[in-house]
Amino acid sequence: MSYELVAGLETHIELSTNTKIFCQCTTAFGGEPNTHCCPICMGMPGTLPKLNKKVVEYAVKAGIAVNCKIRNISKMDRKNYVYPDLPKAYQISQLDKPICYEGYIKLSSGKSIDINRIHIEEDAGKLIHERGGTYIDYNRGGVPLIEIVTEPDFRSIDEVLEYLEKLRLIMKYIGVSDVKMQEGSLRCDVNISVRKKGEEKLGIRTEIKNMNSLNFIAKAMEYEFERHVDILESGGKIEQETRRYDSELNITESMRGKEDADDYRYFRDPDLVNINVSEEEINRLKDELPQLPDEKMHVFMNVYGIPKDDAELLIKYKKIAEYFEEASKDIKNKKLASNYILGQIFRRLPTDWEKEECGISIPPEYLSELISLIESKKITSSMASTALEKMLDSGKSVREFISENDMQGIDDDVLKEICMRAVSENQEAVESYLGGKEKAFSSIIGYIMKETKGKADPQKAAEIVKEIIN
Ligand code: ADP
Ligand code: MG
Ligand code: ZN
Repeated sequence: MSYELVAGLETHIELSTNTKIFCQCTTAFGGEPNTHCCPICMGMPGTLPKLNKKVVEYAVKAGIAVNCKIRNISKMDRKNYVYPDLPKAYQISQLDKPICYEGYIKLSSGKSIDINRIHIEEDAGKLIHERGGTYIDYNRGGVPLIEIVTEPDFRSIDEVLEYLEKLRLIMKYIGVSDVKMQEGSLRCDVNISVRKKGEEKLGIRTEIKNMNSLNFIAKAMEYEFERHVDILESGGKIEQETRRYDSELNITESMRGKEDADDYRYFRDPDLVNINVSEEEINRLKDELPQLPDEKMHVFMNVYGIPKDDAELLIKYKKIAEYFEEASKDIKNKKLASNYILGQIFRRLPTDWEKEECGISIPPEYLSELISLIESKKITSSMASTALEKMLDSGKSVREFISENDMQGIDDDVLKEICMRAVSENQEAVESYLGGKEKAFSSIIGYIMKETKGKADPQKAAEIVKEIIN
């Protein structure tokens, strides 16, 4: 019997506001334990929270970017549970009036993953198990989060991974989070059930908590899917529960039975007033949003003529995409600009991090100038490549390496002369080319390029050589 995977995601994203959600403490990652704290985020009795306006703005921006409706009036609720990472013994969150609802993200297949809601909440502190004891660091407590909850629309691990990559990129583009998975600023609860193929009714689900690596999410889902299928196949019943993934053993294990909303005794937080977001404000925030990755992709491919795989690489790093846009602004052949970035320039930015930071030593105008010289046929592409290397080494413009004189190109008669010489000096290569060895031809052209210090147009040279020897 074959089974179908069904999954829904709850993704927590830490917002990159400077200060926490209800106090003035910094949200900076790390720091000595309990140094980014005050009486409010330590949950001292008698303190009062005050909602950070930026948090609301960021949540609304996130909502707009994933096609959500925005609620004009929402409120904060208390989710009560007793656990040492939460000093107040409740988390301030949103239950029945989340700030955003009913959105979606479109996957490349065209399928939409529906978003049920986005709500605002505070992060909890961190428990550190060490030296036989448990220590608590409240630095993270009160850092603002949005939780993005999808419908159970996923049918494969690949869909989950694509959704997360897309979500991550969108959040990075709109600047509401640095979405660093390794620092936990994007964490995911993965809900999984299985059902027999063709069946309508959803199976009983389990929830794998707090995943912050795509690789582990894939492995955990694979394991959990198999586990469900094994249980059902042997006539058992799935227990609705919360599980954790152990990456060392590559298994999931039970943490606790699943709690219902009832277990949390939710009620409105009486310390906080309604959150009001006017239509005007929503429109203002919408105007502030940059072009989103999908739109950019469309423009790069259909307007600039960049192949899909290349466009994807450019867009994957927001600053690189912007560098490309600047560099190709006045260039007709935009693909040429893209080729230099994805080739020679990317070779100098081997890690994701370097590409993300876009640490290119020359400003985009310099690349643009170089490409204009190729387009106006003042220099050949081989001259350009050599110059670009020197430019990247020094941070200087092309004018430092190619003189006006060099840009004159080569007179046709002179080129012809050099081609004749190339043929007579490379008789062996000519013979083997005529004997059918295509490869030998490039050594003749290589000779010409060397003789002309790269100034010759290799295509033209090839034509002349062929004329001579045929
Ligand atoms: P709760 O309030 O108990 O956390 P929700 O209805 O908010 O439950 O769902 C939490 C997540 O679980 C959502 O992402 C949802 O899509 C997903 N989910 C719900 N039912 C199933 C199911 N049967 N199989 C897989 N995922 C599910
Ligand atoms: Mg939930
Ligand atoms: Zn504080």
